[in-house]
Amino acid sequence: MGVKTRDFQPKPHFQSHHEQDSTTTRNSKTVILQKKDANFTTGRTFAHFLLELCGFVLFFGYAAITMKSVCDRFMADGASPIMAYRMLVAVVLGMSAADLTSGVVHWAVDNWGESDFPVLGSVFFRPFHHHHSDPSAITTHGFIERNGNNFLVSLPGIWAAANAITYPDPSSSFALASFWLAYTMCSGFANEIHCFAHMKNPPWIVQKLQDFGLLVSRRDHQVHHMRPHDRNYCLVTGWMNGPLTAIGLFEAMEGVINKVTGSVPLHARIGKGHGA
Ligand SMILES: [Zn+2]
Ligand SMILES: [Zn+2]
Repeated sequence: MGVKTRDFQPKPHFQSHHEQDSTTTRNSKTVILQKKDANFTTGRTFAHFLLELCGFVLFFGYAAITMKSVCDRFMADGASPIMAYRMLVAVVLGMSAADLTSGVVHWAVDNWGESDFPVLGSVFFRPFHHHHSDPSAITTHGFIERNGNNFLVSLPGIWAAANAITYPDPSSSFALASFWLAYTMCSGFANEIHCFAHMKNPPWIVQKLQDFGLLVSRRDHQVHHMRPHDRNYCLVTGWMNGPLTAIGLFEAMEGVINKVTGSVPLHARIGKGHGA
């Protein structure tokens, strides 16, 4: 958890990366953190690579089997216009839910995980924090390294879709399977979509999807990369970024955590010049 300081007041404190660099040279504590970043290693071991590879194989294997089950039932039962409409709505809801989940997880890891936590610190939290000081490094990682963890944790979503397609009522069966498949695909590929938002020249089809607003855009995500990294946490479609900022969900959750535990989110410490 973050440093304990009661009565913290979240204050927007925007700086560009250039401003961030000049700040780090002025503050002795952040100079130390910057030095650590210069020697940054992900802590990724061969065992971790094997785990990511398992995630990759299981995700694509299980998703292919489940999609075949959906197609088989679709061919057998047929689809009415109402059912097709429900499936479309379910897909949009699934994409929105995945975007929201990516935002909440990203917020939690950015602000409440410490780099020196056992195991999770070096493997999970520190790469997220390092991403703020070296945003383009994500584009140099391999596909398995970038997505293996997400594929692994998304497997229960495929199980939910596989389970839904066995329901007797075709209408709710297809709608639920569509929701879970959309949610799982977006969650599994969340970091790949995040990577696209950092590419200067992503593939043509990705650019079109970003332009249509179906994938989070480079411009939308760059707002998150402004110090102190306290907004636009959603990484999939970006649809939830505006509403979450408008209702102040993250500020409210930070206020509750601060009241209960006295801990302060990392972005508030950055705003006060105490972090990278
Ligand atoms: Zn972040
Ligand atoms: Zn980013």
